[in-house]
Order: sequence, then C-alpha cells, then structure tokens
Amino acid sequence: MSGAVLVAVDEDADVLRDVERELRERYARHYRVLCLKSAHEALARLEDLAAAGEEVALVLSGQWLSGMTGSELLDRLRRLHPHAKRGLVIAWGEWGDRATGEAIFDSIARGQIDHYVLRPSASPDELFHQAISGLLLEWTEARQTSPYTIYIVGESWSGRAYELRQVLGRCAIPHSFFLADSTEGRARLAKAGQGVKLPIVVFPDGTVLTDPTDAEIALASGSPVNPERMEFDLVIVGAGPAGLSAAMYGASEGFSTLVIDEGGLGGQATSSSLIRNYLGFPRGVSGRRLAQQAYDQAWVFGAKFAFMQRVTDLQRADDELFVTLSDGTRVRSRAVLLATGATYHRLGVPALEALSGAGVYYGGPASEAPAMSGRDVYVLGGGNSAGQAALYLARYARSVTLVVRAQSLGAGMSHYLTREAEATPGLRIRLSTEIVGGGGDGWLERLVLRDRRTGTDETVDADGLFIMIGARPHTDWLPPEVDRDERGFVRTGTDLAEGTWPIERDPLLLETSMPGVFAAGDARHGSVKRVASAVGEGSVAIQLLHQLFAVNALHPRGRPQEPASAIGP
Ligand SMILES: Cc1cc2nc3c(=O)[nH]c(=O)nc-3n(C[C@H](O)[C@H](O)[C@H](O)COP(=O)(O)OP(=O)(O)OC[C@H]3O[C@@H](n4cnc5c(N)ncnc54)[C@H](O)[C@@H]3O)c2cc1C
Repeated sequence: MSGAVLVAVDEDADVLRDVERELRERYARHYRVLCLKSAHEALARLEDLAAAGEEVALVLSGQWLSGMTGSELLDRLRRLHPHAKRGLVIAWGEWGDRATGEAIFDSIARGQIDHYVLRPSASPDELFHQAISGLLLEWTEARQTSPYTIYIVGESWSGRAYELRQVLGRCAIPHSFFLADSTEGRARLAKAGQGVKLPIVVFPDGTVLTDPTDAEIALASGSPVNPERMEFDLVIVGAGPAGLSAAMYGASEGFSTLVIDEGGLGGQATSSSLIRNYLGFPRGVSGRRLAQQAYDQAWVFGAKFAFMQRVTDLQRADDELFVTLSDGTRVRSRAVLLATGATYHRLGVPALEALSGAGVYYGGPASEAPAMSGRDVYVLGGGNSAGQAALYLARYARSVTLVVRAQSLGAGMSHYLTREAEATPGLRIRLSTEIVGGGGDGWLERLVLRDRRTGTDETVDADGLFIMIGARPHTDWLPPEVDRDERGFVRTGTDLAEGTWPIERDPLLLETSMPGVFAAGDARHGSVKRVASAVGEGSVAIQLLHQLFAVNALHPRGRPQEPASAIGP
C-alpha cells in the first residue's frame, strides 16, 4: 500500500460499502483507500492529510450529509488539496430528483465538483471504474505526472526554458519543468551525462536534447515538420479546431490533405484548461486533450502535417494555388483553407491566466452566464461586445462591474449600449480602471483593480471575470486579392466586398475573394468565436470542396478512380 489517498464519504452505510469494495479491489495496490461516515470526520482527516503533506488524488462524496452537503464538503477540499478530483456519488436515476439534479447542476457550474459518479452496482462495475480512472488521469495531468510527460531541466524558469515550455504547450504535449539544482532536476541531469548544456529536454523514450530548436522538439516527439509531397488537393493553414476538423473530414472523404501550422496543435484551444461547452464532453475536456484526439483522428484517415512552419505567401496561377512555407518550400494545391484563427489580447497577469476556465474567461459569457447566478462578476473591456456581455450577465449575477480603461464609455461603445448599461440595476461601471492582479485557490476569488487617475489599488471579491479586450486575426501575410474587413478578418461568400470576386460563377459559402481559397473559424469575418463553430465551419468547408471539385470536374487525388464500367446498385 503506498501513494496518494482515495477518500469516500457517505452516511448511507450500503452506498459506502459498495464504493469501498470497488475502490479497494481495483486501486488498493497503488493508492490508500480511506472511507468515512460523516462530513465532519472527512474534513478533519483531509486537514490532517494536508498538514502531513500527503497527496489526496480523489474524494467521492454523497450529497445529503449532516452539517453540510457533499458539494460544500468537496468545495472546501479545493483549498486543502487543490489537485484532488472531486466526484458526487448519486444513485442510478437520482438525477431525476429535483433537489439532487439542481445540486449537480449548481455545483458543476460553480466549480465545486468535477462531476457526478454513479453508485457502483454489481462488482466489477466497469462504468464506475471508467469514471474513476478518467478522474485519476486528470489528476496526474494536473500534477504533470501523466504517462509520456516530457521533462525540461533548466537553470531558471525564464529564458529559453520558458520558450521550450511554450513550444511544448503549443504542441499539446504534456510536460513538466525542473530547476537544475532541484532533486528531480539533478536526477534527470545525472542520466543525461556530465557537462551537458542547459536547458535539456528529456523525452519519454529516453532521448535527451540539449537546447533544441522548435523543429527538433517537434521531430523528437514524432510530429512531422516537412510536407511529405509537394502536391495536394487541399492545403489547410492552421491546426486549430477549424483546421483539424477540415483535415479529418477532408482526408476521410478522399482529398489528399496537408495541414501546416507555425506552432503545433490545437491553436488557441490549447490555452483552455477546460472546455465545458463542446458537445459530447459532459465533464468538459482540456483543449490539449481535444487537440490530441482530433489530430489522431485526422492522422489515421491519412491527413499529412507540417508543424513549426509558417505560411508566408499564397498565390493563384492558372487555377492552381501555391502556398509558400517559412523554409522556402512551395506546395501546390487545388484548394486552400485559411484556418489561421485570431489572438485574443491577453491580460498578462499570470495568476489570472492560470485560472483560465476556472472563473476567468476570454470571450463572450453565453455558456457561463447561468453559473454566475447570485455571484459577483467583472467584465473587462470598453467595446460593444463587453457592453453586451455585461448586460447579459446582469440577468444572472448579483452584481456586474464593467471595468474600462478609458475615461468615458462613449469612447468605444455604441450610445444605445452605454445608456442601457447605465440604466441596468446591479451593473456598475468603473472607468479609468485596469486589472493588475488577482487569484484564487483553483477558482477565481479576487481581483486587484488599479485606478489609473490616482494609481491606487483595491482588492475586490470576484467570482467571474470575462475578458473582452479584442482579438487580432492572423491574416497580415495574405495577398491583397484576399478581401478582409477593416480589422483584418477574412470575408467570405455573400459578405465579400463588391468588385472583389474575380470570376463568373458565384463564390461558395465560405469561399474568399480568391477562388478555391476558403476560410473557416476565428479568422473569418462574422465567425462565432467558439471551438464548436470552428469545428463546424471546418466540416462545412469540405462539403464546399466537393462542390468546387464538381464545378471544376476535378477528382480527389486521395480517392481511387471508379472504373468507368462500374454498374450501380
Ligand atoms: C484562453 C481561451 C479559452 C477559450 N475557451 C473556450 C471555451 O471554453 N469554449 C469555446 O468554445 N471556445 C473557447 N475559446 C475560443 C476557441 O479556442 C477559439 O474560438 C478556437 O480555437 C478557434 O479555432 P480556429 O481553428 O479558428 O483558430 P485557432 O485555434 O486560433 O488556431 C489557428 C492556428 O493557426 C496557426 N496559424 C496562424 N497563422 C499561421 C500561418 N501564417 N502559418 C501557419 N500557421 C498559422 C496558429 O498557430 C494556430 O495554431 C477560448 C480561447 C482562449 C484564448
């Protein structure tokens, strides 16, 4: 018996017995199993474990306990054992009970629990174990000890060691950092040999690279850097959600497909620790996991990839398209999809960046607003989108504070929104103010606001922060023939500016002003800035590619030609 602790709490002896049986029989070899009959006993033991520096990996609790609810108990756990996963145990069908259903909805939305787990039935209950092993995998990821983690050892947290961590993050690769003079750092350096130049990167297969280039990191982790061929049906620029979706559908539907990305996988989505509003993932999914799985799915269908390559030019000649890569390679294609995304202007406060998805959000509040019911929420930004977000949140939150850097609202917001914001009860506006700090234990708890006129700081309680300080599309490199709006977003289909479409047929829905070139996801004018909509647009682009090929009497290179004599069913 060794390792971290798994805790189960329930006042119902039968439930506790079932949970204990399944936990002990499956996990006792690697974890210590602790079963407790009351919330107060559990809290006392969890405090003792924290004081003794012992790791708790998972706490499962029933909801209806004396003295406090299970979700309150699990919420308090966050401060004691921030990495521990928290599951509410319910009986089969109990989600239909109104009080339990609301408790689940509320506590997930408020980040008090990770998810609910069904009480085990006949042993072995693989459904129960699937939930438990999923939670334990997330726990190892949070502690940066998941299988196949890459280790960086460096002299300091900053400089090249920081850049390497950024590269691995952009490649959606699990990684961890150790200082060279720490116990773990020394152990890894000893394996790398004497006098090695720092920083080093240690790969799961034992390969050690000293101060590698970005391309060397990609290659060592099995990610291609150069396109395998020079001719494709479809070249996709950008391996974010839109590009990966188009790659999966394109390759699966017989188009020879190449995806090029200047970084690694997943685009902006990799900076989200928990995407809760993507269909099919009721417990939420980390951007990194989603990107890895999408890449895998596209790859098994035959899509090709070239990472760490920036696309620097796009030209059209004689109905063919030519894409130039940063190393000078020129790839020919029949169609191109621009899925280059946009960069949200970041707040630049590390403690708040770390809470992204846990009370701190970039972009609109649509899916998070109900969770803000009865809470104190801040919206940062002075534009129309920030004004709309604040008004929407005011329907749910106890208080909404719109934080604006400028001295007046009129500078960036339409008049009608300004008036509505000023007249909405519970909505306060703080002008000449910026957010310079904040934090919380696993969830946003406080913000530091600075008055720009006086320079004074004030710390306020906050449960939610929505950052809406604009986005910049990655489209500056495009030639002038690709029509863009005043902020640089690529116009497509019916949105194209008059006179920009150069040929006789009408442009297709997501087609840009350069025939055969499509745009999808955040880089597109009018797009909804969401993972699901980027994925949807990526799939629609492939449907349009079929139409383009039909119009131009082309046949996908990746699909075998049907024999002319084939007889239909
Ligand atoms: C912190 C954060 C949290 C978020 N949370 C959520 C959430 O919970 N739910 C949700 O629905 N949405 C969320 N979003 C928004 C979501 O991530 C984006 O809407 C989505 O990633 C857009 O996908 P995309 O494929 O269009 O672009 P991106 O994800 O931006 O990907 C574009 C890719 O193109 C590459 N690229 C750009 N230019 C070039 C070039 N010239 N050559 C080669 N490659 C290039 C980039 O390296 C990048 O990998 C979040 C965004 C952020 C920043």
